[in-house]
Amino acid sequence: MTKRLPIVVVGSGTAGSLVVSQLAANTSREIILIEVGQVSPYDDQSRFMNTLEQADFSSCVSTTLTDGGDPMSYRQGQALGGGSAVNGMLLTGDAPVAVEGLTRMAELSDCGQMSKALLDNDGRLSRLWWNAGRWNPGRAVQHLVEEGRITVVHDHVTYIDHSKKRATAVHTASRAFECESVVLTAGALSTPEILLRSGLTRLVPAIGEGLQNHPTISFTVKLAQKATVQFDTCVVKDIAMSGDSVGLITTFERVGMNDEENALLSVSLMNPSSRGAVWISDSGVQCDFNMLATKRDRVAMREAVNQLIDVAISKPIQSLATSVFIDDEGTPLSHLSNMTNDELDAWIDGNLTLVSHATSSCSQSVDSNGKVIGVENIYIADASVLSSVPTVTPASEVVVESLRIAHILVQEFA
Ligand SMILES: Cc1cc2nc3c(=O)[nH]c(=O)nc-3n(C[C@H](O)[C@H](O)[C@H](O)COP(=O)(O)OP(=O)(O)OC[C@H]3O[C@@H](n4cnc5c(N)ncnc54)[C@H](O)[C@@H]3O)c2cc1C
Repeated sequence: MTKRLPIVVVGSGTAGSLVVSQLAANTSREIILIEVGQVSPYDDQSRFMNTLEQADFSSCVSTTLTDGGDPMSYRQGQALGGGSAVNGMLLTGDAPVAVEGLTRMAELSDCGQMSKALLDNDGRLSRLWWNAGRWNPGRAVQHLVEEGRITVVHDHVTYIDHSKKRATAVHTASRAFECESVVLTAGALSTPEILLRSGLTRLVPAIGEGLQNHPTISFTVKLAQKATVQFDTCVVKDIAMSGDSVGLITTFERVGMNDEENALLSVSLMNPSSRGAVWISDSGVQCDFNMLATKRDRVAMREAVNQLIDVAISKPIQSLATSVFIDDEGTPLSHLSNMTNDELDAWIDGNLTLVSHATSSCSQSVDSNGKVIGVENIYIADASVLSSVPTVTPASEVVVESLRIAHILVQEFA
């Protein structure tokens, strides 16, 4: 009998770690997991900025936020566990059954001064991906390696070889892995990049199209007293704008690991309709989120910024701030007073900021089972297949969707 070739899973982030765990537990197939990042030793660190700013566990990709805008750095997890190894740990929606017990509601004692001030502004305590430690599904992968159940290769996948509408091998910078099937879980920017670099555009529809993210504006709050707390963020405030647009105001106790004198006050549009793309040009891979391209998003963001201003000038925030700035240059909040809509729109365009919530870049490239259309044996199970960016912080929906596809793959590979 000829030996079956392995299943190759690309990327061990939030989705990939769960997919591999399901396949290892419920099939007897040989599994090779290729993940460029290493094991993070920071799962006991509750202040996420301390983890995020360890250069070895995240990487930056250049993207634009608006058509024709300046390039900015999009930060993504690069570790066993991917985004879940470094993220802000907020779960602003309900906890999916699949992660029951692995998250907990933040408590008043977790709150720093900024969180408390947002609570006093009709904010609410958020759920945290933390329960006596960070929830990082990469830890389960480590156990599978220790048990000899899977092989993990730390390398960078460049493209997939294919013949007669079948993937035949996964290539990394240094070697090729023959495979029976490929499961792509490299995240919303890397998964389409790999498909594009594999020359699959003639077989597969809409690779990279439909990319979404949460457009965000942040103010810097110069603090009267330095922040010393357990969590950098744990309170949110839901806001409603015209039509069905919803937003989320969040506070961060500091702007970075080494700056406890300044805090952040941010607002994100949580259900944008604008969509961007990932594509390949002569200069390499390109990403544009194309934020605020629809009139609906434009109006909603303007209203969201006005609601952020209301929070910034509220008594609870003013009582702990010496000043509030609207940009890195120290421009005061008063600069936004009496702006016309056109002026405010222009200011928003110049000051949009990035959150690492990219999704949906391959949502039209797969069928409902996560199988890539036009190819027999490539599947996608990460944030790129979500139909739209979630109206809550995205990791929970990535978990639910990746587990749904993993259960289908278990039947497929049984
Ligand atoms: C800084 C930050 C803060 C965030 N805050 C929150 C939050 O508070 N709450 C929330 O719910 N969500 C948050 N998120 C988003 C959440 O973590 C992501 O939505 C989620 O991790 C996406 O899962 P994924 O499996 O699609 O991709 P990822 O988790 O990004 O996993 C992709 C994996 O693939 C690997 N990879 C990529 N390319 C290659 C390649 N070519 N070869 C081999 N390996 C490759 C990467 O190293 C990574 O491990 C945050 C993310 C970041 C980065």
